[in-house]
Amino acid sequence: MAKVPKYVYFFGSGKAEGKAEMKNLLGGKGANLAEMVNIGLPVPPGFTITTEVCSAYYQNKQKYPKSLEKEVRVALTKVEKAMGAKFGDAKNPLLVSIRSGARASMPGMMDTILNLGLNDKTVAGLVTKTKNERFVYDSYRRFVQMYGDVVLGLKPVNKDDIDPFEEIIEAKKHAKGVKLDTELTAEDLKELVVKFKAAIKEKTGHDFPQDPLVQMWGAIGAVFSSWMNDRAIAYRKMYDIPESWGTAVNVQSMVFGNMGEDSGTGVAFTRDAATGENYFYGEYLMNAQGEDVVAGTRTPLHISKLKEQDPKLYGQLDKIRKTLEKHYRDMMDIEFTIQQGKLFMLQCRVGKRTAFAAIKIAVDMVGDKFISEKEALTRIEPDQLNQLLRPIFDVKEKDAAVKSGRLLAKGLNAGPGAATGRIVFNAVDAEAWKNRGEKVILTRIETSPEDIKGMDASEGILTARGGMTSHAALVARQMGKVCVAGCDELLIDYAKHTMTVKGKVLNEGDWISLDGTTGQVIEGKIQTKPSEVLQVLVEKTLDAKDAPVYQTFAKVMQWADKYRTLKIRTNADQPDQAANAIAFGAEGIGLCRTEHMFFGEGKIGPMREMILADTLEQRKAALAKLLPLQRADFAGIFEAMHGKPVTIRTIDPPLHEFVPHEEKEQRALAQAMRISYEKVKERVEGLHEFNPMLGFRGCRLGIIFPEITEMQARAIFEAAADTQKKGIAVEPEVMIPLVGNVKELVNQEKLVRKVAEDVMKEKGVKFKYLVGTMIEIPRGAITADEIAAVAEFFSFGTNDLTQTTLGVSRDDAARFLIPYVEKEIYAKDPFEVLDRGGVGKLMEIAVAKGRATRPGIKLGICGEHGGDPSSIEFCHLIGLNYVSCSPFRVPIARLAAARAALLNPAEPAKKAAKKVNKKAKTSHKK
Ligand code: ADP
Ligand code: MG
Ligand code: MG
Repeated sequence: MAKVPKYVYFFGSGKAEGKAEMKNLLGGKGANLAEMVNIGLPVPPGFTITTEVCSAYYQNKQKYPKSLEKEVRVALTKVEKAMGAKFGDAKNPLLVSIRSGARASMPGMMDTILNLGLNDKTVAGLVTKTKNERFVYDSYRRFVQMYGDVVLGLKPVNKDDIDPFEEIIEAKKHAKGVKLDTELTAEDLKELVVKFKAAIKEKTGHDFPQDPLVQMWGAIGAVFSSWMNDRAIAYRKMYDIPESWGTAVNVQSMVFGNMGEDSGTGVAFTRDAATGENYFYGEYLMNAQGEDVVAGTRTPLHISKLKEQDPKLYGQLDKIRKTLEKHYRDMMDIEFTIQQGKLFMLQCRVGKRTAFAAIKIAVDMVGDKFISEKEALTRIEPDQLNQLLRPIFDVKEKDAAVKSGRLLAKGLNAGPGAATGRIVFNAVDAEAWKNRGEKVILTRIETSPEDIKGMDASEGILTARGGMTSHAALVARQMGKVCVAGCDELLIDYAKHTMTVKGKVLNEGDWISLDGTTGQVIEGKIQTKPSEVLQVLVEKTLDAKDAPVYQTFAKVMQWADKYRTLKIRTNADQPDQAANAIAFGAEGIGLCRTEHMFFGEGKIGPMREMILADTLEQRKAALAKLLPLQRADFAGIFEAMHGKPVTIRTIDPPLHEFVPHEEKEQRALAQAMRISYEKVKERVEGLHEFNPMLGFRGCRLGIIFPEITEMQARAIFEAAADTQKKGIAVEPEVMIPLVGNVKELVNQEKLVRKVAEDVMKEKGVKFKYLVGTMIEIPRGAITADEIAAVAEFFSFGTNDLTQTTLGVSRDDAARFLIPYVEKEIYAKDPFEVLDRGGVGKLMEIAVAKGRATRPGIKLGICGEHGGDPSSIEFCHLIGLNYVSCSPFRVPIARLAAARAALLNPAEPAKKAAKKVNKKAKTSHKK
């Protein structure tokens, strides 16, 4: 018989059965609680039910494994012993919290339930024991409220409704003429408990359970059920968390922050999570329980206040901060509670941070010799760099707006960046407006996990309540959204869809602007401008020494370049794009699409004449007009690239893309060409294809109309010769698209080389050049050994290669590809993230066969995937020489390439091949 796994892990009394490395099994929260116990920090004892139970639960018709109940009973007894109290005991009751905890922190999961174990009997016992009736009833009302909401499902029905429990509390406060929960007396709280129970019974039909064991199993069940609720599923989608991971459940003895003014609760970051600054950033509330700080119902105090209020306690906490940073070697996010002057740690995890902070912290920690450069690089997600490239407000315009009285309020600068958009008051509207093409600012009193999708749809998030560690702030930072939180001057009315501030009423749909770097909320639209990095590198309007964000960015890029083995090129077809890409660190052009050039000034006319020409003579005449124009384009690019390699692809798209389809334009063209409108119309119709993607395009054009390839080759080589004569080095690489049969390439290569010879003779210069091909249809990949006999380089055109390998037309795929990804048929959209198992396999074949024929063959990728970190890693693994991506993704690709190299250290070829295979498989399992 298979051994029954251990399902429950105890922590407490100075020793834990788990540890930090056991996140997969214990979830992040459980693993770190265990770790904190093991390094001697004060943690209330408890136990963790493993994620395996969650998986088993779903695999087995939502039933628990048999041995679970007994294991829980044993662990509970240990906790009782450690705490000197008994669960359900009328005189000396143990109370616990039930906390979910997946591997990755997930705001979509069940809310924590505190004070579990209270009932009408244990309440009395606890009053006798603590002699603090107010505290006991405060705990009881919180428990009934949380249990009623989370387990029994008494929640607001409509999006504009307020919480039914809050409604009862508000009514009570109103009747008593008080503002804060803390002003309610024990008697008031007792009444609330009665009202809460009645509301639960009335609206859900359930009785509030009195048996503590029933309560506990109810709450545990709710955690496991929440793994499959809509919020959690939506969150998992957004962050690629597989369903199979499951969540753990933590049952932990309570410590109480609500025992009076010598008690409290707080959350903190060991460094500033928004800016990365190295100082203790936290918030706390006295006489409160955990939720109060995070939910934003009361605005908490800054941790520096604690230093004044209770220096000894602060000192203790600061010491823990240092211990944790040293132990985890990272910025940590912590939760703590103070019970009658005694400090307890309730959670720690590696802190979420903005891209700014991530980069700054990584760089700072290298400076402190805390981590190595390599480790710093692996800690920065390539896509995070996007945030550094994102726009900021035009300072002048913002100042003018502020001066003219448009500054509405100032909140906390929770998510840096600039956002401008129209006000919406709930997540559902945010999504709907976004789908209509509007830019919106989600404006809430506070946000909750239900709002995740709406937050994602917004340009920025504005909340009236909550601190730097509120839900809104945390999630915004993770999403890289602009966020201003805790802006308590705002009076938001959900029902009326209005926001009142300083006597001004703003309505849904009004424009506002958020400066997430300063916390300013400004009425109306404000122009944004390029980020610091862009101002330094691209606009050249800012000096690097005045740009601290740029400096950190530059350091990361410098380290990345040190460790990457892949070269980074860019896809560009204009000199200015090429120049931007070089500023971002591109080392060449991997794809210059000549067809974009044809749409440029003065070119589309002759291009159309060429396409619609009747005879060879007419076509040659039109091409003669195009030649000087293309030559000038190439010359501009060669100059901008200053000797860096430039891969130029000969004409690729089907010709119908260039000709006019509207009568008016067709008539104009007819006039210009001095032929009849009917003739033009007929020719355009003649170009119609049923499946242009697989039609007359790519090298097929150049084979049927060799004069087109000749003209393009001439334009390239004449420009090369001219540029070289100016003393600027050139390295043209002529790339023939859509080759599936080596004979196609032979045909085109001959033409190209002949032109090259001619031009060299005519111009009296010699220049180096290569002729190669795109590998973008399966036959090309499979016969790569034959093709490599002719091609001096391959560039994987993974857009077409994905289309042709999967038999999926990218432009028609939205209807089924999104559901495909939802159904996990493909783990990711294969047009965004390279399909390793299929397309990747063909690439591997082509690499191996290409190198077998021509060992020194240059190998690259120029499809969209060249800018995607996961695909870049794959390119590294199969040994390409370079990736090519759009100019603005070059920094991301540099970092991704470095990470690929660091995370996949060179190993014997056989092993590497195995790894590629394995990755290809798992990329589908996910
Ligand atoms: P989340 O995953 O949303 O952070 P937690 O499980 O951390 O939820 O619970 C939220 C808060 O509840 C904690 O920060 C803490 O203040 C409070 N809390 C949880 N368990 C306990 C406990 N055993 N004793 C005291 N407070 C607790
Ligand atoms: Mg927590
Ligand atoms: Mg292609």
